[in-house]
Amino acid sequence: MTIKEFVALEKAKLAEQAQSFPKKPHLVIIQANDSPASDAYVRGKIKDCGEVGAEATLCLLPPTVSEEELLNKVQEYNEDPNVDGLIVQLPLPPQISEKKVKLAVNPGKDVDGFHPLTTFVPCTPKGIVDYLTEEGFPFQGKNAVVLGRSEIVGKPMSRLLLSKNCNVTVLHSKTSEEDKAFYIAHADLIVVAIGRLGFLDNRFQYKPDAVIVDVGINRNEEGKLRGDAIPDLPVALQTPVPGGVGLLTRLALVKNLFIAAKK
Ligand code: NAD
Repeated sequence: MTIKEFVALEKAKLAEQAQSFPKKPHLVIIQANDSPASDAYVRGKIKDCGEVGAEATLCLLPPTVSEEELLNKVQEYNEDPNVDGLIVQLPLPPQISEKKVKLAVNPGKDVDGFHPLTTFVPCTPKGIVDYLTEEGFPFQGKNAVVLGRSEIVGKPMSRLLLSKNCNVTVLHSKTSEEDKAFYIAHADLIVVAIGRLGFLDNRFQYKPDAVIVDVGINRNEEGKLRGDAIPDLPVALQTPVPGGVGLLTRLALVKNLFIAAKK
């Protein structure tokens, strides 16, 4: 099943579930930047909520907002029983500590899964594992390579794959090219999240039955969105960019919101 088909099917299931809820699941998004990319992501999240029968509220703050004001807003929504999920859109302006904000969100409402005590799986890894599960990927004992070790993708992805009993290797900017080639050639699953246009290409060897999950979002010379892998690598399954992991991440957010609303 393509990612688009999978997402449409899962959203239809959520929309049906929403009908049995006593009230609509409610997501609050706090945005304190004027980045066009963030505007587009936020619009997407609001649209997704509408499609699955959830309510979304955007709390737009000026990029000049003080840390105290933003933390007060977070506290207000933390305590509001009418709010099920609360996320703070990144990036934050320089006067605000991302760490403090992540720690301020009520872990029970932290549907992004960023708080250390969160009960939610971060959206990108969750979306990826849900899709691979649907595709019948047999995680147990498989060699999984995660390229990138960020807090929002690489690290939680490697932990989640480990919990699925994969043999997980994390490669990063300090890994030698020789070692990257070695691990990639032996990988059954490669999740690439490094933000380097077309990094995975034909200079590497791949197992023919390998799966490549491309998390990267880059712009090519023509300004088009492209991934960290060149298209059509000689593997069994490769997720596209655009129309790939971004959609799975958005789906995982509404799934987390529904879990929060059920609690
Ligand atoms: P990041 O940008 O914070 O960090 C990059 C990571 O890649 C680092 O851990 C670094 O060690 C590693 N790295 C950099 N160059 C490397 C190289 N040459 N070889 C091996 N490792 C290298 O990471 P991020 O926030 O996870 O973002 C990675 C990419 O994923 C970006 O393109 C981002 O836009 C995209 N992203 C997409 C989604 C989605 O939903 N599709 C979600 C989050 C991030």
